[in-house]
Amino acid sequence: ISFYDPDSMNMDDLLKAADTAMYEAKSEGRNNFQFFAKQMQDKAEQNQRVQRLLSKAIVNNELTLLYQPKISLLQKKMVGCEALIRWFPEEGDMISPDVFIPIAEQTGQIIELGNWILNQVCQQISHWQSLPYFEGMVTAINVSVRQLGTSEFREKLVEAMNTHAIKPEYVEIEVTETATFDDHNVFFSELEKIHALGVKISIDDFGTGHSSLDYLRKMPVDIIKIDRSFIKDIGMDKQDEELIRTILAISKTMSIQVIAEGAETVEQLIFLDKHQVDNIQGYYFSKPIQAQAISNTLNSKENLYTEQFDLFEIHKEADAS
Ligand code: C2E
Ligand code: CA
Ligand code: CA
Repeated sequence: ISFYDPDSMNMDDLLKAADTAMYEAKSEGRNNFQFFAKQMQDKAEQNQRVQRLLSKAIVNNELTLLYQPKISLLQKKMVGCEALIRWFPEEGDMISPDVFIPIAEQTGQIIELGNWILNQVCQQISHWQSLPYFEGMVTAINVSVRQLGTSEFREKLVEAMNTHAIKPEYVEIEVTETATFDDHNVFFSELEKIHALGVKISIDDFGTGHSSLDYLRKMPVDIIKIDRSFIKDIGMDKQDEELIRTILAISKTMSIQVIAEGAETVEQLIFLDKHQVDNIQGYYFSKPIQAQAISNTLNSKENLYTEQFDLFEIHKEADAS
């Protein structure tokens, strides 16, 4: 819906404004209406700019992947990592994936981008697997729901694992719960087929989506990633703590592994350990780092997280006494 302002608009402007409002309504998940607002137009222009720049990003070598370690509290070591994309455009500053991934999903550019990421990660794993302390290491790739609307992603995944001679159990895909599906059936059946290959499946941002429990029934889930918004409330919001406990109880009865995202403080760690969270990913142990830094860990007999674990033990004892 847009209103006609005779002072500043002509017929074309009016239609364009209505169009912009329509796109906003669609992005809100359809079945709703939106009034045109100036910010929508700014956003649309910004989106077009990002879309234009992104189309050249791969060939221009502007993209790179960082990897954030996942740490097992029981084994006290890195047991996996998550590939996270970074974009440094030739013109302008770094653009966050929170900004460009949703745009790439809208425009369909996520398909090409996703294929590029897939190949990069598989190539990386093929290097890591030859290193002395690789055993048990699983590398996760973020996959957008949009990529799972056809069989293309699965086919590319199989191809990439073959090309780089890596085993499916070294690979995990992280999928986010979302309401905007083109076709539920294809999505769930693709996940089943990918899971049948031996690739692990995790639900990202668990608890923030639309139908978490429904997902657990319909999806072959190996791992739940508790969203950072819950973790950051540990020690501050009793209700969120209770939700974490509930998620853990459900996971346990379903034999699903749990990882906590975005753990930053030792207090959060103590809580998560007390409630038997399996793995931790967050700034407390490490920010996303270069592939080379992961290689160093996989090359070294030394535990690189000794300092963090020592501090954790000290607080744990103090907490218990
Ligand atoms: P995500 O999948 O939930 O990734 C976790 C985000 O939390 C990452 O942000 C990571 O850097 C950040 N993070 C991890 N630990 C902490 C912590 O302790 N504190 C704080 N403050 N943040 C933490 P990043 O890399 O900016 O990625 C943002 C989102 O962009 C991702 O959220 C994911 O949805 C998307 N994304 C990133 N890389 C890819 C990719 O390769 N493919 C796809 N489809 N999406 C991606
Ligand atoms: Ca993720
Ligand atoms: Ca997440």
